[in-house]
Amino acid sequence: MLNKTNTKKGESIMAKLIIDKNYKNPLIEVDTECSDHYEKNIQNQIAGAVSECVLCGKGIKHTSKHYQIVAGLGNYQQFIHKDEWEYAQSKENTDNGFMGAWDIGTECFKKLKNFPNIKSYVEFIKPTKETA
Ligand SMILES: [Zn+2]
Repeated sequence: MLNKTNTKKGESIMAKLIIDKNYKNPLIEVDTECSDHYEKNIQNQIAGAVSECVLCGKGIKHTSKHYQIVAGLGNYQQFIHKDEWEYAQSKENTDNGFMGAWDIGTECFKKLKNFPNIKSYVEFIKPTKETA
């Protein structure tokens, strides 16, 4: 039998919780492993992309399902808990590294979906209908 572990690389993204004084809830910090091809994906962007996945750089069309995260602490791979999105975007936020909202494609979300409580950190964005 061949060792198949290598072929499964990138199937799930490593993530951990981080505690920071600027937020009541821990943030999820995802590994950078998934962004190996970020630059290349940005350069070879798909036609009709309105945005791109913050983790892998692949284009997102407005007709495709995707997810949104809000990032802080100077790193777009550090996701803020949804309970604090409103606070995070307010003037009261003490985090000088607040990064705002970013999109995540369905492929990358699949790699994250087994992380405990991940749904408290990502918002599902429904695709919008094609407009002329
Ligand atoms: Zn992605």
